[in-house]
Order: sequence, then C-alpha cells, then structure tokens
Amino acid sequence: MWLTRAVFRCFKCFERTADRVTGAVGPLFIGIAVVLIGIGIFSFFDIIAPTLRWPIITTPICALIALNTLANYYWAITVPPGFADDDFRLSGYKRSAPVGRWERWTTAPVRVQGHGSDFIRGHELEPARTGRCQKCGSIKPERTHHCRICKRCVLKYDHHCPVRINQCVGIGNERHFILFMAYLIVCCGFLLVLGLPPAWEVIGMPYHWPHRTPQVMFLLIYIVAIALGIAVSAMLSWHLYLIGRGQTSVENHDFSQYKKVAASRGQTFVNSYDLGIRRNFALFFNLTPTGHPWWVLLTPFRTKPYTNGHAWARRHGFESGHGGIREEEELTDDEED
Ligand SMILES: [Zn+2]
Ligand SMILES: [Zn+2]
Repeated sequence: MWLTRAVFRCFKCFERTADRVTGAVGPLFIGIAVVLIGIGIFSFFDIIAPTLRWPIITTPICALIALNTLANYYWAITVPPGFADDDFRLSGYKRSAPVGRWERWTTAPVRVQGHGSDFIRGHELEPARTGRCQKCGSIKPERTHHCRICKRCVLKYDHHCPVRINQCVGIGNERHFILFMAYLIVCCGFLLVLGLPPAWEVIGMPYHWPHRTPQVMFLLIYIVAIALGIAVSAMLSWHLYLIGRGQTSVENHDFSQYKKVAASRGQTFVNSYDLGIRRNFALFFNLTPTGHPWWVLLTPFRTKPYTNGHAWARRHGFESGHGGIREEEELTDDEED
C-alpha cells in the first residue's frame, strides 16, 4: 500500500515539475513560431509572389491570408480563454447582474436578443448548472474545467496548449485558435505547391539566385512547411470533428464514459450541446443573428462567442441536460489532484 502511495506521490511530483517546465518554455515556443511564420511569409513574397500571374488579384489575396494567419495567432495568444473568475462580458449579450455577481446568471433565464430567421432561432440559451471549483474556489458553470498549468478555471475548457499559444483554449479564444490553424495550413499549402519550382531549383544549387532569402533558409522553411502542414492538418481535422459534434476535447473523453454508463442501463447517451453539424459550427463561430456575418471569418478581426459561458444552446427535448446520464454520474475534474 505504501508503495502505491509513494509511486502516486512520485508521479504527481513529476507531473507538477512538467507543468512548471511547460509554463516556463511556452514563451520560447511562441517566439519560434513567430520567427518561422515570419520567415515563411517573407520568403513567399520574396520568391514566389512575383512569379504569380495576375498580381493585381493574387497579391492582395496572399497578403490577406498572411494577415489573417498572423492576426488569428495574435488573438489566440492574447485574448484570455475565458477565466471563470474574470468579468467575462460580451457585447450584444446584455447581462442584468452587476459585475462580480455571477450567481445571477444561474437563476435568471437567459434569452438571446433579437430573434431572427437564422440558426439559433428556437434554441433559447439555457442557464448552465453551476458548482464551485475545489481547487481555486471559483464559481464553475458546466463545461468549465480547472487548468493545472494556469491554476484557474476556464469556461468551455478545451485544453492547455503550451507549444503553440502558451495558454488555455477556452470560450474566449477557441475561434481564433481554429482559424489560426486553418490559415496556417493554407499558407503551408501555398508555399509547398507554388514554391516547388524554386525549392527544386535550390536542390540543384543554382549559380544565379536573385532573391533576398538565402537558399538554405528557403529550403529549410519548405521542409518545416511540409512537417507543419501534416501535423496541423491532423490537429485541425480532429478539432473540426469535435466542433461538428458539439464537443470539446475534454467532453469527448467524458462522453465516451457516459456512453458506456448509458449503455449498461440499455439507454443511449445524447449530448445536449449537439444541435446538428451546421448549427454547431454556426454557434462555435457565432455566425448568429446577434453575432457575426459569415464573412467575418475572412477578416483579421476579433470575434466573440455566442454565449458568456453561463448559458448554453441545447438540443430540443434535452433542455435540462444530456440524455442517458444522471447529473450525479457526470465526471468532474475535482478528483484529479
Ligand atoms: Zn478552478
Ligand atoms: Zn491553462
């Protein structure tokens, strides 16, 4: 027994050290990412863009894609993920309670303003159930999880991303995190396809190289784009799948447990946040009557979520919670430490 406890304590100690190291090297990873993206964009406009036909059309399009990549990265790393103990206010989404009184959200029914003929019509936002975090003591609406590295509770917590953005992905920055990955893949694709002739030329070690980007650097960034393109495509595919199913990464793990529990009773688990692929995407990017038009995704502007994280749109017939699972059976992250 003491051996089990010693191993557990040792594991926890290792985990805490890993968390500290992760937190410390995060800014370094951001620096590397900025430098790599910067070199990629510079070499594209230095070597590839001048070779494109119809420069009046192609140059602005390429510039917009580069700008959107950088802007979404900037928003993903600077916009707070939505800490449960912060005053997380949203424009166009009126709250009647004074600042700091979160409890009011949970008792007063929340309604979307200005119903239109669009996606969320007929899906009133249902106030979230709340609890209190055992670790940081903050009020914790459903879909909130405590981040071990940030040591705070994050609304609609997805995961802590130390390598790319050095902070949590939550309700505040999740749209920009996804858009950053999407634009980064487009950048890598453009660089790989359109940059193939000059990359091939570099391998042949040309005598004449009339560009400002050194040959070795272009070849290196081309190889990085291959690796990054593959890795980020895999990650983005996974996240798009989760968005389409109305889940976060944490919920995907939890829901697989709930499915087993429901099945053991002969029932089927139903995710109450799943409103169908089209609506799930519209809600995720807040392409709603009270939110943003679709073309905002093509701009570098900051966007806001459809809810403040204290109320959620739910599937018809499941307004009070998921199907096939009882509230007391739902997993919490209080047991982890
Ligand atoms: Zn917490
Ligand atoms: Zn975190």
